[in-house]
Amino acid sequence: MFTRSFSFRRKLALTSLLVGLSAALLAGGCQLWFEQQRQQDKYDTLLASMHSWLTGYLSDIRATSESLQPLTINDCHQVASELTSRAAFSMNVRAFLLVKDSYAFCSSATGEMRMAMKDLVPDIDLQKNSDMVLLPGTPMLPDKPAIGFWFRSPLLDHRGVFATLNINLTPYSLYTSQQPEMTGIALGIGDRAVSTFSGGLITLSQIPQPPILTTHIEDSPITLYLFAQKWRTQDIQFAALLGATFGMLVGLLTAFVLYNHVRPGREILTGIKRDQFYVVYQPVICAKDLHITGVEVLLRWRHPTAGEIAPDTFIPFAEAQQLIVPLTLHLFDLIARDAPLLQKLLPPGAKLGVNIAPGHLHADHFLDDIRAFDRSLPPRHFKLVLEITERDMLRYTEVAQRFQALRSEGYHVAIDDFGTGHSALIYLEKFTLDYLKIDRGFVNAIGTETVTSPVLDAVLALANRLDMLTIAEGVETPEQARWLREHGIHYMQGFLFSHPLTLEQFAAWQPPNFNLML
Ligand code: C2E
Ligand code: CA
Ligand code: CA
Repeated sequence: MFTRSFSFRRKLALTSLLVGLSAALLAGGCQLWFEQQRQQDKYDTLLASMHSWLTGYLSDIRATSESLQPLTINDCHQVASELTSRAAFSMNVRAFLLVKDSYAFCSSATGEMRMAMKDLVPDIDLQKNSDMVLLPGTPMLPDKPAIGFWFRSPLLDHRGVFATLNINLTPYSLYTSQQPEMTGIALGIGDRAVSTFSGGLITLSQIPQPPILTTHIEDSPITLYLFAQKWRTQDIQFAALLGATFGMLVGLLTAFVLYNHVRPGREILTGIKRDQFYVVYQPVICAKDLHITGVEVLLRWRHPTAGEIAPDTFIPFAEAQQLIVPLTLHLFDLIARDAPLLQKLLPPGAKLGVNIAPGHLHADHFLDDIRAFDRSLPPRHFKLVLEITERDMLRYTEVAQRFQALRSEGYHVAIDDFGTGHSALIYLEKFTLDYLKIDRGFVNAIGTETVTSPVLDAVLALANRLDMLTIAEGVETPEQARWLREHGIHYMQGFLFSHPLTLEQFAAWQPPNFNLML
């Protein structure tokens, strides 16, 4: 999780990208949906207005035809002029025909006539009370489609009125021509239709696209069809643009928020603030009498989601994020918090080993920090041992001054992980240091690798010559402990004696009789 900040950057970029992409899709999708709703409302309004106009018109024609029914009992010459004037005053009526015994005998347009209805309008069903067909034209206007509307007389047998009506789609075709997404409208009866696509009568299957909306006129076989593009290019373009802009903003905002709130470095500060760090104490045993002489303090992080994070992971990370100083100061606070109880568990003069990172050691305020930490502890009870790894000795002139200052104020310094570095050995004689902590790699090898034991022997001899006290780390077996004691080690630390313990565990700890073990 905290391995590298660059992996965090990659995660941040990926998360922001995904969030941005989702936001873009959402915004673009919503915009398209709203636009579709708007279009749909427009289509609904248009068809509703056509619908209400047609319904009104048909009911007018029905009423007029009704009032013409009595004329069918007269001869044509008696009623022709009235028929003509009624047709003239009825909007969009081309002609009224009076029908008797299946023959049209009188026309408002041409007067007296005699023509079989089945020849005139083969599709109409005279047996029905009313019927309607679409006609390709009428004798006067053969190329202009019309609606043929049949009304059987309810009272007089075998008689009725037949009306031919103009179909005027002009206002609607004008309207639709101004709406780029609307491609046309059609009025259909059966599978025949009059439409804005062509002047003549067509079949519905001749229209290349399916209608987007249809509505049926009650009490009539008429259906209205609206044709339009489902997806308009400009709507898609606008939605894409809006989506891209919104997505980009959300993506950037996500990156900003993540960077400022979830940045791993920030997690350490949050961890400090939320008290997620705690300390454990590992006893250090005197090799001679096998009594506890002190503890090494080790930091732990109980992360709310990642669980226990090992110091080997978060310490280098805190160093890389320049957060090792606040973290170490927090460690000092945690120890100070435990100190009153710790004082009861450890004898006066007990050593308190604290790990110091090089980033802190070189800071100007380092000495002040150590002094303040010391003041926060019970006076003169603990001996502070600052553990500094061998790898940090390279800037030795600078370090030498620091060590001298520390030692002159009574603090002890230990070289940690001795044997893991390469070049420090030659500088050792230039420092005066108190302890040498032999890395557990050496201790591990005792008894398994005959070659390393002489090296360890030599290291112990060197430490003796330099007047340094030696601490063996990672002592896990009685054999190792025996070997170390026989070779003059001063202190030992490791799982053989005790794992690192929390303060509560330490308080409850009953050290076994180490003499019996060794
Ligand atoms: P270190 O200073 O060498 O600490 C000793 C490490 O060895 C500890 O690991 C301890 O738990 C482990 N250990 C002790 N006895 C045995 C044993 O018998 N066998 C084995 N296999 N391991 C044993 P831990 O606590 O995981 O710490 C790892 C490292 O993290 C430390 O190595 C130290 O370099 C660093 N660290 C821990 N706490 C702090 C801190 O407060 N500040 C700084 N700067 N570094 C810290
Ligand atoms: Ca250490
Ligand atoms: Ca060590």
